[in-house]
Amino acid sequence: MISEVTLNNGIKMPLIGFGVFQVSDLEQTKESVLLALKNGYRLIDTASSYGNEEAVGQAIIESNVPRQDIFVTTKAFVNQMGYNETIQAFYESLNKLGLDYLDLYLIHMPFGDYYGSYRALIDLYHAGKIRAIGISNFDEARLTDLVLNFNVVPQVNQIEHHPHFQRTKLLDIMAGYNIQPEAWAPFAEGMNGMFDEDILVNIAKNHKKSVPQVIIRWNIQQDIVVIPKSVHENRIQQNIAVQDFELSSEEMAAIKNLDMDKPDMLDINDSKEVRRVYDYLNNPVLTTLNDNN
Ligand code: NAP
Repeated sequence: MISEVTLNNGIKMPLIGFGVFQVSDLEQTKESVLLALKNGYRLIDTASSYGNEEAVGQAIIESNVPRQDIFVTTKAFVNQMGYNETIQAFYESLNKLGLDYLDLYLIHMPFGDYYGSYRALIDLYHAGKIRAIGISNFDEARLTDLVLNFNVVPQVNQIEHHPHFQRTKLLDIMAGYNIQPEAWAPFAEGMNGMFDEDILVNIAKNHKKSVPQVIIRWNIQQDIVVIPKSVHENRIQQNIAVQDFELSSEEMAAIKNLDMDKPDMLDINDSKEVRRVYDYLNNPVLTTLNDNN
């Protein structure tokens, strides 16, 4: 059983979940979610923009794991911002997933009329359709502005977070509001030598674990929810087998030194990146969000 955190509204959320970004083949999505559920994951993270919500929903049904035991997250994308648009997007996602409520619904990115969207999330929450509401990719200023504007604090902010981009300042601000951090791309998708970092390799050797396991463990020891993605069963199993070792304070401090304090995957304050996000809408297959070219 995976440990859980308690969100600011009392809802419990597993500390390790399973992501399905860039698994565009629907059969593969279904198979990998089935493998994840079989191997003990109880949090599944998808998004309308991933185009695989139906397959996630199918896997949930076929898994025979009781619905109430699975924490299901999806997200409204930038083309679904605005009050009415997000209400409609929510029901479309729910329908594709084959569910009658969501555990967590996120505003995927702070672009477009996300204020209208946040109002929609609050209404859906009060209507009992979502157990927790959240945001994703909100930086220090955007998050603070949203909270102060609404006086309704989101439960979760899902952010790029890995040893190369540790977000200390943002995490401090979120802790002040009791907003739960959730780490996307915990391995930075293996980019920029993440799996070969000497510090991580040595720590992994010390514990007879792999570098991905050290990274997952590093997250959960900070009470950060983490959602690795893999389509391979051995890795799916490996990424969740992290509850039988502990990183020492010296090891945690050594990992701190890997922080480069800049994103590897998505810089929401770079106008080229903003354009890339909007381009993704027109060509989601060819323009993946981690394509740095
Ligand atoms: P990630 O989890 O950092 O990395 C996934 C990559 O690592 C895949 O290429 C996978 O390959 C490989 N991998 C996984 N486990 C491994 C292991 N034990 N050993 C070696 N390689 C391993 O990247 P991500 O998928 O971008 O992020 C995770 C989840 O976060 C996504 O699936 C999505 O749900 C969410 N996310 C959210 C946002 C957002 O804007 N909110 C953005 C990106 C991602 P294989 O699949 O071939 O094993």
